[in-house]
Amino acid sequence: MPTVGFDFDDTLVANPYGRLFYRPWVTARELEAGVEPGTYLRKIAEIGRRYWRRGQWRRAFDWPAIAREELGFVIPDPPAPDPDEVAALVRPGARDVLGFLLERGIQLALVTNGMTAFQIPYLQALGWDRLFRHVVTPDRVGTAKPDPRMFWAVEDLVLFVGDRPWHDTLGAKRAGVPAVMVGPGPVREDRHDPFGRAVSPDFRVDDLYGLLDLFRTRPAAFPWLAR
Ligand SMILES: [Mg+2]
Repeated sequence: MPTVGFDFDDTLVANPYGRLFYRPWVTARELEAGVEPGTYLRKIAEIGRRYWRRGQWRRAFDWPAIAREELGFVIPDPPAPDPDEVAALVRPGARDVLGFLLERGIQLALVTNGMTAFQIPYLQALGWDRLFRHVVTPDRVGTAKPDPRMFWAVEDLVLFVGDRPWHDTLGAKRAGVPAVMVGPGPVREDRHDPFGRAVSPDFRVDDLYGLLDLFRTRPAAFPWLAR
């Protein structure tokens, strides 16, 4: 069955774990400790980048492990969120494009660099845990995007849709999967694979309504839609 893969954060939903749980939790620890706001968040990001440069890609995204082992405080798994708060973070056109694909018998996969525990409560809050046949995460595969093994974990992946060139586009292309980039890409330098600088997507769209237009106006580019 042809499967279309999506990145989660900032492609389908505006980073619900970060906004609704992780940042408020870490900020509360900063206040308790009397350190300048942002100190722990910066330290965790910095340590994550260090792991990334060493090639420990899975670990680079495991912020609770970094906080526990290097900063000495606990970040628990997020509790079930308020569904309305998560719904407010869904990107324009996301529901439409997922519905369009499902109606045509296309399967959906999520390939995310967020740990399973960071993503599942938000998928459940949206009722999307039933829509995605695969949820591919660093803790399940043992690596992270742009490692092509993240994409090879999904059988018959015919297209990948994401917002970050160095994670989504590069990883998909490296796995031999056509890539759509949504939005302008990050302005700051992204965490990247030093061997993958030259990368460009097969298609670029401003938002997920643009992807829907692409499916409707250029069917020859997506022959699996007609199967
Ligand atoms: Mg993203």
